[in-house]
Amino acid sequence: MPRMRAICLGIVLSSAAATGAAAQTIYPLDRAEILQGARFDFKVEFPGAPVAASVKVTINGEDPAKLLGKASSFVEKEDGGDYSAYWIRQAVITRPGTYTVEATADGKTARVAWEVFNTNGGTKAKNVILFIGDGMSMAHRTAARVLSKGLAAGRYGGELAIDDMPHMALVSTSGTDSIVTDSANSMSAYATGHKSCVNAMGIYCARNQNNLQHPHVETISELVKRLRGMSVGVVTNTEIEDATPAAMVAHTRRRADYNDIVKMFFEVQPDVIMGGGSPNFWPKSAEGSKRNDEENFVKKFEEVGYAFVKTRTELLADKGNHGKLLGLFNTGNIDGALDRLFLKKGTVAKFPDQPDLTDQVRVAIDMLSKNDKGFVLMVESGRIDKYSHSLDWERAVYDTIMLDNAVKVAKDFAATRNDTLIIVVADHAHAVSIVGTYDDEINGTARQRLGTYAESKFPNYPAANGNGYPDKVDVSRRLAFVFGSYPDYCDTGRPYLDGEPVPAVPGTEKGTYVANEQYCVPGAIRRTGNLPFGLNQGVHSADDVVLTATGPGAELFRGRIDNTRVFRVMTTALGLAPQTSQ
Ligand SMILES: [Zn+2]
Repeated sequence: MPRMRAICLGIVLSSAAATGAAAQTIYPLDRAEILQGARFDFKVEFPGAPVAASVKVTINGEDPAKLLGKASSFVEKEDGGDYSAYWIRQAVITRPGTYTVEATADGKTARVAWEVFNTNGGTKAKNVILFIGDGMSMAHRTAARVLSKGLAAGRYGGELAIDDMPHMALVSTSGTDSIVTDSANSMSAYATGHKSCVNAMGIYCARNQNNLQHPHVETISELVKRLRGMSVGVVTNTEIEDATPAAMVAHTRRRADYNDIVKMFFEVQPDVIMGGGSPNFWPKSAEGSKRNDEENFVKKFEEVGYAFVKTRTELLADKGNHGKLLGLFNTGNIDGALDRLFLKKGTVAKFPDQPDLTDQVRVAIDMLSKNDKGFVLMVESGRIDKYSHSLDWERAVYDTIMLDNAVKVAKDFAATRNDTLIIVVADHAHAVSIVGTYDDEINGTARQRLGTYAESKFPNYPAANGNGYPDKVDVSRRLAFVFGSYPDYCDTGRPYLDGEPVPAVPGTEKGTYVANEQYCVPGAIRRTGNLPFGLNQGVHSADDVVLTATGPGAELFRGRIDNTRVFRVMTTALGLAPQTSQ
């Protein structure tokens, strides 16, 4: 979505300029929750570029350098901008409590408050497994339950593993800059406990020109390795450099900088790394490489002890043989369950031996659980989101069922012990809903075949196979799963058996999109888009998402929470903060 990114960046820059003119900006922002002992970059931006002698910065009335045990630096006209910057990089606060930060210049004082929390008294979990259904919304969960468990006389034939958990919360996902988040800043909130802005992760979005120089905040991967020597796993079916997996290790203003992100994976060295997106690991001269240098990151990982695998067969053969594993199974995203297991579309012909998320999770847990100090594993079913962007609900829901199967693997592991916190949550929602069923026994257009209320008869998908999937998705009575945000497109009310659809294509006017006529077949509904003309796919929504959890620490999830709370519960369950006498 390059177009959407450009729009979002424009909004960020103008609002930063507006606030900069009004007052000093202090990072971390007001109401930040900071884990005691976690590293963060403390920055104050002073508009008008005052000199060092004319500004004053205090934390609880004291010199920050004294409190944080590190010298400050001051940059006049940072990056040539009309502001000066006060910095203390890699700050740490060692005592929990409330901290009031004041920055004064030109007779104006800006003030923020931080809460530094400890984890004394936290429930002690040894391991945390965080499952992310990217973009997974209420309708995806409901449809997965219908297709996987069946629904008759208003009752389901069973429970999904993702639903059958004792604790639940609603999670709000907005970032620091806008009501609707993307996967970078929402996953960053889970991974760092700090909110960020669209396209950014592991940082606060300040006025720095260099994408890597914005104020950093420490990720849970860095924390558990530094403080505890725990193992870390990052597992996805998208490109490994994509926002959700990247936010486990990255500090950048721009999620699209894949080559920087590969470097950050290498710096943090999660013990298990699995996904697609191999081209950014190979040197520029290698066929298909997307690097702009001759660095060979596959070789670099191998040199520090990683086994490298690129097929399911290799993955299962290598199981447990090495302490560390890099698995890159596709040049792009790993194909979704509907294509891999049933329709053989997408890139299945080119990559016939890709693993399922359940294979990846099984191997990851096997390997990570060998560390006596415990592990943190993040697992993403990432194409729920991507297929929802392309208005392809069947593929999104088959990948929700795949997520459910992967969660079942983790629950089976945790069942034999009482030391593993399992969390299942989305990073943001899509505007999706189930409004009835389409019935092919009724003649007419998709609109005439749509049954609502009493006419929404139960769908007739065949009973799911042993893996929870119906063998046939193109049945005669199907869910009417609709999208609330869309470009101009034609809705056939039928699954896309020929592959993931492209709902809109470039129009004659530059930068606009029109319906892809390929789907404007007799009976289809031609919809006039409700999104700005520069968008060619559905967008995220600001709706809260559902979180379910089980294991030690899960009881801390309740009611409505901000996304940053997920980090706080994980670190509290792990008792991660260094112990203090207070
Ligand atoms: Zn998305």
